[in-house]
Amino acid sequence: MSRLWQARFFTTVNQLRDLPGTQVPEIAFAGRSNAGKSTAINILTNQKGLAFASKTPGRTQHINYFSIGGAHVGQHRKDPTIVDEIRALLVDLPGYGYAEVSGTAKLHWQKLLGDYVQRREQLAALVLIMDSRRPFTDLDTQMLEWFAPTGKPIHCILTKADKLNRNEQTNILRQSRQILDSYVDEEGVGFPFTVQLFSALKRIGIEEADAKIQELVGLDIEDEFDETDEQAEGDDQPDEAAPRTDDDSDPA
Ligand code: GDP
Repeated sequence: MSRLWQARFFTTVNQLRDLPGTQVPEIAFAGRSNAGKSTAINILTNQKGLAFASKTPGRTQHINYFSIGGAHVGQHRKDPTIVDEIRALLVDLPGYGYAEVSGTAKLHWQKLLGDYVQRREQLAALVLIMDSRRPFTDLDTQMLEWFAPTGKPIHCILTKADKLNRNEQTNILRQSRQILDSYVDEEGVGFPFTVQLFSALKRIGIEEADAKIQELVGLDIEDEFDETDEQAEGDDQPDEAAPRTDDDSDPA
C-alpha cells in the first residue's frame, strides 16, 4: 500500500497566521475549481471523502491539511494523531477561478494563495492540477509563476485524461512539456517542472503521481515508519473510490 493511504485530516486554516507550526515537508495541491483536485486527492489517499468535492464556493475557501504518519493504524481508528510523528503534510489549497466568488473574496484568496506558495518554507513542492482538455489557464500560469522563483519543484497533473483519445493525450503531454521547458532562469537553466496524464475514472497515472508525490516530500525513504505499513496489512486493497464521471458542468 502507498504511504499516502495513511493520510488523515489534520487541520483547516483560513488565514496565513493560523498555518500549523509543524516543520515537516508539505506538498500543496492547487488547481482551478472543477479541475478534479478533490477526486485526485481522494484516489491517491484511497479515501472516498478526505477532500470534499468543491461544489459550494464557501466550502473551498480553506486550506485543508492532511497528515501522513503520526497515527498508528489507518484512517478508521479514532486515536489522536501524534504531531511529533507526522512525516509529511498534504495541503489542499482552495480551488481558484470560481465565477461566483465576489471581487473582495477573490482578492483575499488570491493573495493568500500567492503568499502561501511564495513564503511557506516548509512547502517542498507544488502539485498543479489541471483539466487535460484546457491546461495552463491564466490562473494556472499565475500560480506557476508565483512559485517558480522559489526554485522548488512543480508537478503538473493533467486530469480527466479519459476524455481524450490517445493522440490527444500524446499531444497535450508534449505541449505541456514545451510550456514547462520554456521557463528558464536568468542563466537559461530550466526549472524542476514535471507533468503527467491522470484519470481517476480510468485509473491512469495513479502510480506515477503517487511515486512522484512521495519522492517530493521524502516519503520514499525507508524508516521505522514501515511498522505502520505492517500493522495496516490486510487493508491493502484499493478502496475503488469510484469517482463519478464528469458531468461537464464546468463553469469554465
Ligand atoms: P475540484 O473542484 O478540482 O476538487 O474537482 P472535483 O474533484 O470535484 O471534480 C470535478 C468534476 O470532474 C466532478 O464532476 C468529477 O466527477 C469530475 N472528474 C474528476 N476526475 C475525473 C476523471 O478522472 N475523469 C472524468 N471523466 N471526470 C472526472
